[in-house]
Amino acid sequence: MIFPDALGQLESELAEKFGADGLSRAPDVLAEFAADESHASPVSPQLVFRPASEEQVQCALTLCSRLKIPVTPAGARTGKSGGCVPAAGGLSLGMERMNRILEISPGDMTAVVEPGVITGKLMEEAEKQGLFYPPDPASLRECTIGGNIAENAGGPRAFKYGVTRDYVLGLRAVLMDGSVLVTGHRSIKGVAGYDLTGLFVGSEGTLGVVTQATLQLLPLPRAAAAALLTFRSLDDAADAVTAILLGGMLPRTLELMDDEAIRAVNGQDAEFPPNAAAALLVELDGNDEAELAKQLDELSCRLPAMNCAPASLEIARDDAARERLWQARRSVSRALKSQARFKVSEDIAVPRSRIPEAIRCIKAIGRENGLTSAVYGHAGDGNLHVNFLYGDSRLTPAAERAIDALMRRTLSLGGTITGEHGVGLTKRAFLPLEIDARGIALHRQLKAALDPQGLLNPGKIF
Ligand SMILES: Cc1cc2nc3c(=O)[nH]c(=O)nc-3n(C[C@H](O)[C@H](O)[C@H](O)COP(=O)(O)OP(=O)(O)OC[C@H]3O[C@@H](n4cnc5c(N)ncnc54)[C@H](O)[C@@H]3O)c2cc1C
Repeated sequence: MIFPDALGQLESELAEKFGADGLSRAPDVLAEFAADESHASPVSPQLVFRPASEEQVQCALTLCSRLKIPVTPAGARTGKSGGCVPAAGGLSLGMERMNRILEISPGDMTAVVEPGVITGKLMEEAEKQGLFYPPDPASLRECTIGGNIAENAGGPRAFKYGVTRDYVLGLRAVLMDGSVLVTGHRSIKGVAGYDLTGLFVGSEGTLGVVTQATLQLLPLPRAAAAALLTFRSLDDAADAVTAILLGGMLPRTLELMDDEAIRAVNGQDAEFPPNAAAALLVELDGNDEAELAKQLDELSCRLPAMNCAPASLEIARDDAARERLWQARRSVSRALKSQARFKVSEDIAVPRSRIPEAIRCIKAIGRENGLTSAVYGHAGDGNLHVNFLYGDSRLTPAAERAIDALMRRTLSLGGTITGEHGVGLTKRAFLPLEIDARGIALHRQLKAALDPQGLLNPGKIF
């Protein structure tokens, strides 16, 4: 229980030190911080504080510890597992004012950023210097680097370039006692001590509040092209994924959309042929146009040779045409949301060879529970976004049954309950199916070592 006096004291001490600027109890602001983009039930914080510096974060956490007030960090609140929903109320710490790119170093190929930097902004600034920040969640125009680090976000390019964890060299994070933990290094290599940076990446804001990150950049590929392939069946599309991979090609993305996903965006962000039952968006990159042309030729020849010829193939060579194809893929999530009154969105991942079986299971689970199912996502790394759409109430028993069956089937195929969105609130009940009691006990010990009172983002993961 949080005592009103304690909250009043927190508010007045923060206001006294830093002014009232970053503080709010306005109902519309509290409502904004109550939810993210998941189906987790909203919970309102009692107070929102938007720190402008690491010192302000230190002060807020020290006060919360002293006054025993739960505190939940939030980035852009685009999360899909309820990670920034303040499940126990208390203080929401909105990190958006700490949004400076402190340095981009072409020599070291690194960037040093504050956590509130929008991911797409970092990409643009890096590109201006001929550099490349690969992790590209589809929400990149809104989400923050802090949120990406906390969720270990992936994206379409993860297939070739890896996920956020592969690009975080070091961190500064404020712990609940107000101290600053500095982890990692600026060099590309470094193995001194336990991998504390790795521990924080994917910790869903439960161990400390990230206030600065040193990120690795790559040279910007000089040429890129995208191809949108449609198929008359989902099985043909799944076979095409296998054919591309077995042929030794390494596209930077290999994105799948089923008929429901296509229907949701058709005519708005893209025009698909009428018989399209599935689509693959394949993006290739390379050092020059000649290398790219060779890869595109191979793509066009390989699929017919492997008996999975696409029904249509559209190639986009320039940036504007590529962006148009991507817009269709990026808008699937929101387009599906506008189609049904409610949807649940899961992000299972399975070993690549099990993708066709996983898709068949998903469709069967949808049918058995009377729900429309849509599947899209990162076929290259087996990470499938599964949406069950429904109309009548916030989470129907049928949707609950479908999610339960999906998680169990996914694990039986050797997969995981979440490929990139995190456990948060929405998948907490399923974690014990994937991690055994010893593993969960170790999670609890690690959490207690850094946050003994359990005040930082309580109720998440386990
Ligand atoms: C349309 C759409 C498409 C998406 N596509 C993808 C995708 O392709 N790949 C993918 O991985 N995800 C995707 N997501 C999910 C989401 O965008 C990511 O999880 C993203 O990393 C969340 O960032 P955020 O800034 O919105 O964080 P929030 O949602 O605000 O918070 C997420 C978590 O980060 C913690 N947190 C935030 N800042 C800090 C900090 N400074 N220190 C410690 N903890 C912190 C929060 O407590 C919470 O646990 C998508 C979401 C949407 C709506």
